[in-house]
Order: sequence, then C-alpha cells, then structure tokens
Amino acid sequence: MPVPDRAAIQAMDAQDPLRHLRDAFILAGDEIYLDGNSLGPATLAAQQELLTAAREEWARDMIRSWNGAGWFDLPVRLGDRIGRLIGAAPGQVVVADTTSVNIYKALHAAMGLRPGRGTIVAESGSFPTDLYMAEGVVSTLPGARLRLEGVDAPTIEELLDSDVAAVLVNHVNYKTGALRDMAALTARIHEAGALAIWDLCHSAGALPVALDAAGADFAVGCSYKYLNGGPGAPAFIYVAKRHLGQARQPLSGWWGHARPFAFETGYEGDPGIRRFQCGTQPILSMRALKGALEVWDRVDMAALRAKSIALTGLFIELVESLCAGRGLALESPRDGALRGSQVAFRHDHAHEIMQALIARGVIGDFRAPATLRFGFAPLYLRHVDVLRAAETLAEVLESESWRDPRFAVKAAVT
Ligand SMILES: *Cc1c(COP(=O)(O)O)cnc(C)c1O
Repeated sequence: MPVPDRAAIQAMDAQDPLRHLRDAFILAGDEIYLDGNSLGPATLAAQQELLTAAREEWARDMIRSWNGAGWFDLPVRLGDRIGRLIGAAPGQVVVADTTSVNIYKALHAAMGLRPGRGTIVAESGSFPTDLYMAEGVVSTLPGARLRLEGVDAPTIEELLDSDVAAVLVNHVNYKTGALRDMAALTARIHEAGALAIWDLCHSAGALPVALDAAGADFAVGCSYKYLNGGPGAPAFIYVAKRHLGQARQPLSGWWGHARPFAFETGYEGDPGIRRFQCGTQPILSMRALKGALEVWDRVDMAALRAKSIALTGLFIELVESLCAGRGLALESPRDGALRGSQVAFRHDHAHEIMQALIARGVIGDFRAPATLRFGFAPLYLRHVDVLRAAETLAEVLESESWRDPRFAVKAAVT
C-alpha cells in the first residue's frame, strides 16, 4: 500500500469523530505538540476552574469553601471521574499525592495482604521511580527483596513463585510504548498467589483501561500526562473493592482517618478508599484537574483508541518512508494492538535531533540513552499534524541541521 498523500490525510481529519474536542485546548497554532504523554496541554476549562477557585472560593469565601465549595470531597469525586476512564466502579479511586508516593502505599498494602511472602517483582525497564520506590519499600521490611524482569529472569512469568507478594508492572512502557495484556498477566499473577499493581501513567487517558474486569488489585497513575491536569497535578490510586477495609497503607495521616475531624488520639483508617489519602490535598491543583476532566466526559474511549492507533501508525509509516536510510530504528511495537499512544525511534544523535525538531516547533522529548519519543494524544492532534511532524523530522535529518552545537547542550529536564 502506498503511503497516504496530503489529500488522503486531510480526509482522515474530516472524518475524525473526535475533531471537535481540540477546541477545548489552548494550543500554540504554529506548533505541533507531541509531548502530551509527559505534560498535557492546558484546557480552557482548567484555567477557568483555577480562576474560580482562587478568586471566589479562596480569596472571598476562605475557610468556608472546605464545605461550601466541596473541597473536602474533591479527591474522591475526581477519583470516581477518573475511574470511569480506567474501568473502575465508583468508590475505588482517590486522587492524592504523587504517583511515586502512591506506589509506596500500594506496595506496602499489597505486602501486608500477603504475610509470609517477601518478594516484590518489577521490570528492569520500568519507569525508574517505580523501582526506586520499590527499593524504599524493601528497605523498610526486614527479609523483603526486589527481583527484576530483565535481570533475574527474562520475563515476569518466570519470576512468579510462592514467595512473590506483589508484582508492580507498567501497563504501557514509558519509553517504547509497549502495551501489556492486563487481564492475562493479572490472571497469571493471581495463579501464583500474588497481587498485581498496575502503573497506568502512560495508559490513563491514552487508551481504554479495564481494571475491574481484569481483576487488578491496585493501580496508580498520573493526571498530568494524557489527562492534562497541569504540571505536578495530583496522582490517583485504585484499590479493588475486595481489598478495601483490609488493605493498610503506612502513611497514616489524618485525611485517611475514619473521622478526621473527631481529632482522636489513635489512628483508625477509613473503611473505604479515603484511607489511601494522607494529608491535606492541593486544592488548586485539584481544581485544574477537575476542569481538565470535563472534556473527558464527552469522550468515547473506543473512538479514542481507534484514533490513537491511526495517528501512531501513520507516523511510523510516514517516518519510515520519508526518513529511510537516515539511521532511525523503530523501538515501539509495529502492531498497533500492542502499542500505547506513543512512538519511539532510536538514533545515535537522538538528543540533538529532538532539540532541532523543537526549534522548528515540533515538540517531542528525548529519553536517555538514545530515544526520540513522540506522544500522540487523540483529543487534540490531527492527522495533518502527524504529516508535518514526519516532514520536519525528514528535513532535520536531511539537512543535518541538528549538528548545530547549541542542540548538544543538555538541560535539566529532557
Ligand atoms: C511519569 C511517571 C511517573 C511519575 O511519577 P511522579 O511521582 O508523578 O513524579 C511514575 N511512573 C511512571 C510509569 C511514569 O510514567
């Protein structure tokens, strides 16, 4: 099949059932933003919520807003709203803290539910904070140990034995975009008597997720990537209903207490998902997230997935045709069904090439040691954007404009 031409690509946009959702976003007209998998763009609704919360609720109503503006319940209300996007029935998701902190809570809770077992299994290719937090959990539990896929055995399945308490696994790999079969792996983990903790940072808002149907035990994820909650927006944690009440987390702050305003001397955890909160939550950030979630109420997740596969597939096809022979190697799965909403290419000069692309208004990111990473958020990207991104990459490679020394300078955040 020939590579689609511009007219065919414009026709794809004309038929796109999600095309109107782009209007919800504030985007620089002359840029193509392929980094919504790292920091989602602002929405008009998020900015409006921030203004309302700051001017009316904080500045005018002050302390009364904890009750009057619903601040206190916001973490559970937003949790249920995210729950719809990740296949979780109400009462199992709360928005709180960061993904890193929620990994700590989920791992501890899982270990507590499997007394007599001491092993945590994770992936050596995981997003690093997951591994760093697992190391931290192991350091607090005498006899516990961490075993890694890719180091201690080639696959997670081969690491499952009678000592494994918890498996912490990324649904979509942050670098390659490889997508795991959640239901199948969760079933294998359960057969071994262990609990499954899914990290949804690169799948929440990127594709349909079915936590309840897959039988997942715990899940965590970001709200500042595909969900567009804003820089440092609070994360979420899912605890399956069957574990609520029994599952304990060690950060036993007052917001997780059954009666925080009774000011009792001893801790008694809330019987529901509130137990997975710790202290006072960042309300302004939560309000931005609330606004960002509005657009999601109108999204059909099956249509989102279809568009995501179309965008990423088109990008692979165009890049491999327009940039043939220029040293790029696809690192993402070629089969759309096995891919998240991002595409990674390896190149020896990936950092410089990405900087040159950003200078030309195509914003992706670099992941060490040699990956060019492009995220395709279906809510606001058009097929013509994919074409321009691929054409710009071809220009950068052909002209070798990336050789400009300023593109070799590495910033703190890549
Ligand atoms: C982005 C990301 C995180 C980020 O964790 P924070 O605590 O929010 O900084 C964690 N895990 C994965 C897989 C990620 O992609």
